[in-house]
Amino acid sequence: ADDDRIARIASSIRVIPDFPKPGILFQDITTLLLNPKAFKDTIDLFVERYKDKNINVVAGIEARGFIFGPPIALAIGAKFVPMRKPKKLPGEVISEEYSLEYGTDVIEMHVGAVQAGERALVVDDLIATGGTLSAAIRLLERVGVDVVECACLIELPELKGRDRLGDRPLYVLIS
Ligand code: AMP
Repeated sequence: ADDDRIARIASSIRVIPDFPKPGILFQDITTLLLNPKAFKDTIDLFVERYKDKNINVVAGIEARGFIFGPPIALAIGAKFVPMRKPKKLPGEVISEEYSLEYGTDVIEMHVGAVQAGERALVVDDLIATGGTLSAAIRLLERVGVDVVECACLIELPELKGRDRLGDRPLYVLIS
């Protein structure tokens, strides 16, 4: 059942206190990757949800969206588009800034990777404040892409990141 799979996924994620700084409870998905059954269950749950939704773009957010996005994209027959930190992509890019607790950050996407009217799923490992996902949504929508849903393994609900996504649906395995 889905619940058994989700329980196995949840128990294979390691929590490390005070990383990368004091007060942060870091959700470490590298231990999930060490468990092939839990890793496969993770991908399968997303693929079962998205396979018949006419999604042609899986947009993965650096860095852990690059681990979960590509196997989902391959299984549902969509292209994979990396959304990267600044100055990593070699071609012409469009950029979107978003606010952090202290300061701002930027994500970038290659011009021409997606076309107006395409249907995208945005993938990351975790939503905290929602700043990263909302910037990814703005980037895609600026070029006319329809963001069908955002998918993460983990949501930290007390940070209310979901509220920053407007009416775009968010699907998570573990809250
Ligand atoms: P946010 O933009 O605040 O929603 O933060 C989401 C991004 O930061 C994701 O790419 C996560 O991988 C990372 N992140 C934020 N908080 C944590 C956490 N407690 N554990 C692991 N990753 C986190």
